[in-house]
Amino acid sequence: MQKYSRVLVKLSGEALAGEQQRGFDHSVITRVARELIELVRNGIEVSVVIGGGNFWRGRTSGDMDRTKADQIGMLATIMNAIYVADVCRAEGIEAVVQTPFAVGNMTELFSKERALLHMKEGKIVFFAGGTGHPFFSTDTGAALRGCEVEVGALLFAKNIDGVYDSDPKLNPEAKKYDSISCQELLAKNLKAIDAAAATLCIDQKLPIIVFDLDMPNGILKAAAGEKIGTTIYV
Ligand code: UDP
Repeated sequence: MQKYSRVLVKLSGEALAGEQQRGFDHSVITRVARELIELVRNGIEVSVVIGGGNFWRGRTSGDMDRTKADQIGMLATIMNAIYVADVCRAEGIEAVVQTPFAVGNMTELFSKERALLHMKEGKIVFFAGGTGHPFFSTDTGAALRGCEVEVGALLFAKNIDGVYDSDPKLNPEAKKYDSISCQELLAKNLKAIDAAAATLCIDQKLPIIVFDLDMPNGILKAAAGEKIGTTIYV
């Protein structure tokens, strides 16, 4: 029995890079693609947002024009989506990449109606290019598209296994939450998801499950409502 009939899976760019931390780790991506396909075969409608941190992040690009840096970041998310969508096809499922702006004939323009139709037909829809605007992140792009296509939950697969009260890389005493409200997350200024995404999720009552992409079948477990990672409730 599945908990959600339609989900949006957000994959952080870094998590897709595997141990090398840059570019693509094909074996990680193939495993992820197989899990996404399994979700569809379990009757769930699946959409995906992928970050760009394995190539580029606007906010860490020094003193260059932030708008231009973010444009490069958005393009990086499109490269990621084209790659992962192609691996999904190679593994046996149709996949479509939609972007908020025209990228020639490489992607389709975002449309709620077409995205819903694709998902009904059993295709995986990748929402690439973030929101299409600088000064946002793919977390916000994921929250926005998740609200637009009315998913039951956002499944955030990261390179960390949940939300902590402080950075576990810096603080060995950091404690992981099994669940936390989105309001508390904002009030405590925890960096698990960005504030714009959190605000949108609160407004639209969209829960988020944060878990480790490395966990075997993590995406399947999160979609089935198993208690993994941290549930951010609204
Ligand atoms: N980006 C943007 N607008 C958006 C989404 C993303 O400008 O709506 C840019 C921004 O520069 C960001 C980069 O794309 O740093 C990659 O996205 P993100 O940092 O969210 O990737 P992740 O950390 O999830 O891999």
